[in-house]
Amino acid sequence: MPKPGELTFVAPRGAARPPRHLADLTPAERREAVAGAGEKPFRAKQLSQHYFSRLAHDPAQWTDIPAAAREKLAAELLPDLMSVVRHISCDEGMTRKTLWKLHDGTLVESVLMRYPDRVTMCISSQAGCGMNCPFCATGQAGLDRNLSTAEIVHQIVDGVRALRDGEVPGAGGQAEGAAGTPARLSNIVFMGMGEPLANYKRVVGAIRRLTDPEPDGLGLSQRGITVSTVGLVPAMLRFADEGFKCRLAVSLHAPDDELRDTLVPVNTRWKVREVLDAAWEYAAKSSRRVSIEYALIKDINDQAWRADLLGRLLKGRPVHVNLIPLNPTPGSKWTASRPEDEAAFVQALQAHGVPVTVRDTRGQEIDGACGQLAATER
Ligand code: SF4
Repeated sequence: MPKPGELTFVAPRGAARPPRHLADLTPAERREAVAGAGEKPFRAKQLSQHYFSRLAHDPAQWTDIPAAAREKLAAELLPDLMSVVRHISCDEGMTRKTLWKLHDGTLVESVLMRYPDRVTMCISSQAGCGMNCPFCATGQAGLDRNLSTAEIVHQIVDGVRALRDGEVPGAGGQAEGAAGTPARLSNIVFMGMGEPLANYKRVVGAIRRLTDPEPDGLGLSQRGITVSTVGLVPAMLRFADEGFKCRLAVSLHAPDDELRDTLVPVNTRWKVREVLDAAWEYAAKSSRRVSIEYALIKDINDQAWRADLLGRLLKGRPVHVNLIPLNPTPGSKWTASRPEDEAAFVQALQAHGVPVTVRDTRGQEIDGACGQLAATER
């Protein structure tokens, strides 16, 4: 019997296990690993400092560790996990998508978006996705494999380093190759490739590494992290018990089971009502409003009666609705709603007192917006 949250209906296609990395381990496990390599346990803290605080990943920079021990410790705890295949930028460089190649050749993507008042990073938790939503580029290729905790964390660590080093320009962009002003990461969204709660343990491990105080982790705020889900109810309930202050985002996309069964196939297992009840439980335990994500698709889910039904389901709840103009994906019959239908949908929700915003579609021209991350080396 799987525990709640240990989902069995998506079987990764079974690639070789990623090498063990410091970011996979708790501080106690790091000390054990260092001792196992024949070094003094306090070196674990030094390595954590280099990785999470100084962002110094070249052993030559670890001058507080004897030269003879550096390569051994690097091989044991900081192996090369992933390499950049390429960056693609748009919005004058302020949006940057990175294509990563993992140790076994698996490809994943992350996107860094710099705004005047904040910096958001969208990361992947799985290579591909097993949820099979028909309007989504990522879902079309199926699930390749789960990412390890360190593979998730490293996307962020590298983003933090890129921002520190001025690789991502601020407002107004700048000439190619010029150094940008340094910036700090403020928000992380688990909305890249994959269903985060289908890779539960590693995603929870990643949240701990990202939010543990330095040097054990990156010291980021849990409140700045958003975890999205299509509605894996047992995992949502388990996540509510972790005690996190992260935001939960539920990709609802339809207020009625008949349509949601087709748009989000996992709805055949957990219905709209159950998904929303689990969301309210998360909201109660975390004291955070839940985000409801709703991709507006022309003539599919954007009718006035559906807006009204959604408003009635959400009325009076601790919630915020993000309407997402559908991002076109190659060869798809789905397209974004007409502007007048989008406006009417917003008004219908507001009539029920439900807070709603239409999401900005940053990254669309580089296929870096939600549902577009497909990780091809084209
Ligand atoms: S929309 Fe999200 S859950 Fe659905 S297939 Fe795409 S990545 Fe997976």
